[in-house]
Amino acid sequence: MNAPTDTRTFSFELFPPKTPEGMEKLKGTVAKLNAVGPEYFSCTYGAGGSTRERTFATVDWLRSQGIDTAPHLACIGSDETEMRDIIGHYIDQGITRLVALRGDMPSGMGSAGRSAFRYANELVAFLRAEYGDRFKIEVAAYPEFHPQAPNAMADLENFKRKVDAGADAAITQYFFNPDAYFEFVELCDEAGITVPIIAGVMPITNFNQLARFSDACGAEIPRYIRKRLEAYGDDKESIKAFGHEVVLDLCRRLLEGGAPGIHFYTMNQAEATLKLWHELELPVTAPKQV
Ligand code: FAD
Repeated sequence: MNAPTDTRTFSFELFPPKTPEGMEKLKGTVAKLNAVGPEYFSCTYGAGGSTRERTFATVDWLRSQGIDTAPHLACIGSDETEMRDIIGHYIDQGITRLVALRGDMPSGMGSAGRSAFRYANELVAFLRAEYGDRFKIEVAAYPEFHPQAPNAMADLENFKRKVDAGADAAITQYFFNPDAYFEFVELCDEAGITVPIIAGVMPITNFNQLARFSDACGAEIPRYIRKRLEAYGDDKESIKAFGHEVVLDLCRRLLEGGAPGIHFYTMNQAEATLKLWHELELPVTAPKQV
């Protein structure tokens, strides 16, 4: 009898490095991460085109290695011509998946006035209307709800709008409370949202950076975790060790509870993510070539 096929998906997020040295370092990181055979790598994009050339450079390099790559595409601050240009570039690179987002305008980048699309659902609808089924489209989901949503149910309706517009799957914002994820999935079920909701998981390696991100994106760091991390001060090793235990436990609960996959926010570092991968005994397969 054949072993049952593991249909869960495990993938990695990168951001485009700012310097040539950062790019060289990223190549080493990707080599280590790719050795476990992830489904794909995604690469973030700064809304308003703020990282356009760097995202292209990272995506193009990943594709030159035969790596399945999902560029993030943030629509706020861009007109339709710019979006078509970017998508055309990705078609030339053989890209078949995209993470479709509204994005947030970087501070100092001016207004979102020339945006062709106000919300991610409009971008998804455009992608489907213009490019059919060429791309597998992932969108963002928020188990703890998006900070700008007037309330939880309005956010859920907005998420449903993105799915109804043609998204194939969602990746969540990171969170540390597994109940937030399972409650959200249940709400989605009740709302008739049936696409896989992949859990976005952030390894904990640097408390100050995590606290800054979490304040900005509305992801809650439970008090007992924040207090423990704060207490370690500059002791980086203790932060990493405690952070690892917290996130390992989170991933175990997510997978035991039936999460269809994990998207790791690697922060361009291999070590913390691979430690989780191995301790979770996630499948190690030959690197995919596409
Ligand atoms: P939307 O789904 O458009 O939602 C934005 C807000 O508007 C929500 O509050 C929603 O409830 C509300 N809303 C949506 N539709 C409507 C409507 N029709 N009417 C009224 N309100 C509405 N940011 C980047 O800049 N670059 C990246 O590469 C990036 N990658 C990300 C990857 C993941 C997996 C996640 C979870 C987030 C990422 N982000 C990125 C951050 C994201 O862009 C921000 O959270 C942004 O504020 C919302 O983007 P969205 O696509 O979820 O927006």
